[in-house]
Amino acid sequence: MTAIIMDGKQEALNVRKFLAEEIAATYSSPVLAVVQVGDNPASQVYVRNKHKAAAEIGMECRICYVPETASEDELRDLILELNDNDEVNGIIVQLPLPKQFDELKVLSWIKHSKDVDGFSPINAGLLQMNSPEAVVAATPQGIVALLKHYVADLRGKHAVIIGRSNIVGRPLADLLLNQDCTVTVTHSKTLDLPSICKQADILVAACGCAEMVKADWVKKGAAVIDVGINRVDGHLCGDVAFEEVKEVAAYITPVPGGIGPMTVAMLLKNTWNAYKKQNPLMK
Ligand code: NDP
Repeated sequence: MTAIIMDGKQEALNVRKFLAEEIAATYSSPVLAVVQVGDNPASQVYVRNKHKAAAEIGMECRICYVPETASEDELRDLILELNDNDEVNGIIVQLPLPKQFDELKVLSWIKHSKDVDGFSPINAGLLQMNSPEAVVAATPQGIVALLKHYVADLRGKHAVIIGRSNIVGRPLADLLLNQDCTVTVTHSKTLDLPSICKQADILVAACGCAEMVKADWVKKGAAVIDVGINRVDGHLCGDVAFEEVKEVAAYITPVPGGIGPMTVAMLLKNTWNAYKKQNPLMK
């Protein structure tokens, strides 16, 4: 029996429809500020997509372009100005930054209540401590929302994550631990990765290695989440060999149409939640 496809596109549409209805019922639009430093072509596409997705639900998205030649002080001044601007509810800095900038330092300048990517050290710490005040990074949040929709009870499940980045692997490990999963985080130095993956009830591939996860790495009946976005000969694929793995797994996300749309939807949701917290008296 082939796996049930976890339809991130549909689930994301449901979230966006809900947000559009909520926003339509308020007296003003939430504002998301996107800081883009330099002109990395991939970043330009991501920023355009965020702008379009925000506009579709009635959210304003202000793109603040900073030239690659800008100094650290100039970038910090812009972020501090956005922190103080009461019209702005959420701020994200599009990553990766040009090499001369220290990402962790830049992210730490964003006020934690406006950090709708959840990448600042304060939000990462709050998530690790299982605080309800944490703004949770969009991709891990989207993964858990999709898992809850399809697999329902995550308690006690063994989740294996391939990748330990600050934006996917690490926050996802915290989030799944907070959902009472037993979590194993793997990385490029992990020994015998296939046999560890084979123990997973939930297997999340977030390593950026095209179709690395094969059918014989996957336990029968597992839920397999593919976060990877890779381009091979102009063709988009994930970190999981979808065609063969879907014959073993019980649930699987496609690429595209899985975690990508969920990530955008969760960013919009975080911005809406930030707006509500900053405007407690609104209806
Ligand atoms: P990073 O490059 O920051 O991290 C990759 C992680 O994978 C590292 O921890 C690395 O290990 C590990 N890794 C790399 N190669 C291997 C290997 N052969 N075996 C085991 N582990 C390995 O990537 P990101 O976390 O930012 O992104 C991962 C993937 O997810 C990318 O394809 C990216 O495009 C995609 N992505 C998709 C999103 C979406 O919305 N769908 C959002 C964000 C990312 P080590 O730490 O040892 O170097």
